Amino acid sequence: MFGKFKINLITAGVFITLAVVFACGCGKNAPEQTSSAAIKAANADYVSYTLCLQVLKGIAQSDMVIPAGAQPHGFEPLPRDIAKIEKADFLFYINDTLEPWAKKLGGAKAFALDRNLPEVNPQDPHIWMDFDNASVMAQNMAYYVSSVYPDTEQQLLKNILNFQNEIQMLKRMYAQIFANCQSKQIYHIGHLAFGYLAKKYGLQFKPLKGANADSEPTPKDMAEMIKEIKQNNIKYIFTEEALNPQIAKAISQETGAEVLYLYTVEHITKQEFEQKLTYRQLMVKNMENLAKGLNCKA
Ligand SMILES: [Zn+2]
Repeated sequence: MFGKFKINLITAGVFITLAVVFACGCGKNAPEQTSSAAIKAANADYVSYTLCLQVLKGIAQSDMVIPAGAQPHGFEPLPRDIAKIEKADFLFYINDTLEPWAKKLGGAKAFALDRNLPEVNPQDPHIWMDFDNASVMAQNMAYYVSSVYPDTEQQLLKNILNFQNEIQMLKRMYAQIFANCQSKQIYHIGHLAFGYLAKKYGLQFKPLKGANADSEPTPKDMAEMIKEIKQNNIKYIFTEEALNPQIAKAISQETGAEVLYLYTVEHITKQEFEQKLTYRQLMVKNMENLAKGLNCKA
């Protein structure tokens, strides 16, 4: 069945990482086949959730296990979260580093999206911040569902084509905008979420040590960053919504640099969740703020 799906995608002119088809081991221990209208897909976090809304559009009911406003690092599911997994046919998640609980709780339903990725840094679980990785993650999801529910193949094909078009558009925009920036240094009052993105576009990602949802930076680390920002005459610094805004505010006041937001996709506010912001929309917001902060000219 995978073979057929692969051929259809190639016929449609989509770039495919062929290895995905054969190496993912999809379908093993998969749930029994039922009508596609009844498919329920649980997603560990917002990254897989937003991919699922696009890839399984018209095919499955999607749900998110991590509540809106929470983020996956260190997350421990409560009984209400586990209930969502129990009701679902699938549990999609990013990887075992970020969500070690998913495989344990999801068992045969759990499917990690991190297979056969073109860009992998074992130290950095934020794999979706590379567009080629995001593309393969979406394909992995489609292959898996198509292996269990063959009647979904045509709809999956349409959905994947739409997603691939968005990815190609993002890649074109990013390549154009970040080819010409006055600054390349992303001073980020936040955690290590944007390393893949910076690497792909030749930017230097400088996250503040210790600045994440579970801890705060030391005064020494803050002082060092403030010194660098002043020395390099940096006009904009970046932060994330999940963090205590006081840290970015303090650095901004000390240096005169203005604060801009970056969006990790893994963390989403309740309001953004209600708006069902897509991967493309969030990555466009990142592009706009980075382009402003680094003074890039398209
Ligand atoms: Zn993260």
